[in-house]
Amino acid sequence: MSNYLEDLKDKVSGVVVTSADEGYDTARTSWNLFIDQRPDVVVVAESEADVAAAISYANDAAVPVTVQATGHGQPKTCAGGVLINTSKLNSVKIDPVSKTAVIGAGVRWKEVIEAAYPYGLAPISGSSPNVGVVGYTIGGGYGITSRKHGLAIDNVRDFRIVLPNGQVTLASSDENPDLFFAVLGGGGSYGVVTEMTIYLHGHSEVFGGSVMFDASRASEIYIAYAEWTSGLPDEVSSAIHIMNFPPAPFIPEFLRGRSMVIVIACVCGQMEHAEEWLKPMRLMEGAELDSFHKMPYTESGAIFQDPVDPLPANGRGVLLHDFTAETAAAFLDAIGPIPASPNLMIQLRHLGGAITGNSDPRVCIMRNRKAKYLAYLLGVPMPGNPPESMAAHAENVFKRIEPWVLSRGPLNWLGEGAVEPSSIRSVFSEEEYTRIKTVKESIDPLNRFSNAGLGIIDK
Ligand SMILES: Cc1cc2nc3c(=O)[nH]c(=O)nc-3n(C[C@H](O)[C@H](O)[C@H](O)COP(=O)(O)OP(=O)(O)OC[C@H]3O[C@@H](n4cnc5c(N)ncnc54)[C@H](O)[C@@H]3O)c2cc1C
Repeated sequence: MSNYLEDLKDKVSGVVVTSADEGYDTARTSWNLFIDQRPDVVVVAESEADVAAAISYANDAAVPVTVQATGHGQPKTCAGGVLINTSKLNSVKIDPVSKTAVIGAGVRWKEVIEAAYPYGLAPISGSSPNVGVVGYTIGGGYGITSRKHGLAIDNVRDFRIVLPNGQVTLASSDENPDLFFAVLGGGGSYGVVTEMTIYLHGHSEVFGGSVMFDASRASEIYIAYAEWTSGLPDEVSSAIHIMNFPPAPFIPEFLRGRSMVIVIACVCGQMEHAEEWLKPMRLMEGAELDSFHKMPYTESGAIFQDPVDPLPANGRGVLLHDFTAETAAAFLDAIGPIPASPNLMIQLRHLGGAITGNSDPRVCIMRNRKAKYLAYLLGVPMPGNPPESMAAHAENVFKRIEPWVLSRGPLNWLGEGAVEPSSIRSVFSEEEYTRIKTVKESIDPLNRFSNAGLGIIDK
């Protein structure tokens, strides 16, 4: 064992493991089982001091640093480096007066949702309550109430970060504003965020759920969805999915082997109008399994029904400036015969609303505020369905809808497969890139955080 590693073990109160140790696989495993990361060392941090010690080890040993809270994010090529697992930094403090939550680096959305609920408050959480708050937020954070309240990055007050030189600093729009700007929407290549203060919103209930249709009616439903979403108030956030349900025992019998179109929505505010707003889609011919109802926000994970248990997933998304009947035709044509699609889930999310509204230049990178929709394709790699087929299928679909695709990409949905430097670069405008590159070069000149965000470009 090297002196550096011995030193690290002495300093850290959490677990430190290498491939030779029991517990290595548990500590390194991601929620996304497609990501098979094999760092030399994993530090399961129990405090900010542990995080600083892990970074100091990386500097002494001259190796890269990678961070993981839940492993829902993009792959980390951390061979030879140190992986800081933040899952034990899970404190949540709610201040009902300032309507804020102070959260630790390893907190998942469900923990914030549950802690805020007794105060009648809710965060800008996404479709899955099991995703990590920090990773989601610094990648932009498209929530199920974002059309009403903006992206997660629009709702951050400040954060604490352990910089690549091991020092702890605070960042907000007043203090270290360039760093604040870079981290919000720029990804985890500037150090480890150990704590973040986010704004909450005053709604404890939403009206949400989904309605399904047999995929043989996809064309009609997609055209209706395009028309419906073009006139919706910001209170309604929604998505439309095509799901190929495998003929597996864990799938309810009546869905096994079927392909369905699923319209999903979450109404936040003015809920007395929810039924009326949702009527055009819910009353379409062939509607099955309508699950819409008023629910406490603590049940909001039931709206999208994202998978909870770890699975191998490989996906990619693009932002669109519009989705019309013409886009729908090109989209479905490119997808091809639905049951034969190598991608299990084909998702279109309606964006716009308050997402387009924030033009405050002090905050939020990813001010790709023209995005009105997100198209995302996801597959489960398995024998006979390799990731290459999924990627080629997605590429073809995005090519066919090119006239509607924005050149700038969504950091959170660039892909669970290999993420190219050009994809990362596409997230930022020239002006944003210049500003955050200056931050990156000044705080991480050796590119220790080379596996995320701007670090990938600088390799
Ligand atoms: C089922 C599912 C549903 C999703 N739904 C949504 C959604 O509705 N809206 C949306 O916007 N996105 C969504 N995403 C994308 C998700 O937000 C990103 O994958 C995000 O990166 C996950 O963060 P994590 O902490 O859970 O994952 P991790 O893999 O643990 O972390 C992802 C990356 O974030 C960075 N990071 C994490 N913690 C820190 C830290 N403390 N300091 C510095 N960097 C850090 C690191 O670069 C890390 O590689 C979804 C993903 C999945 C798989």
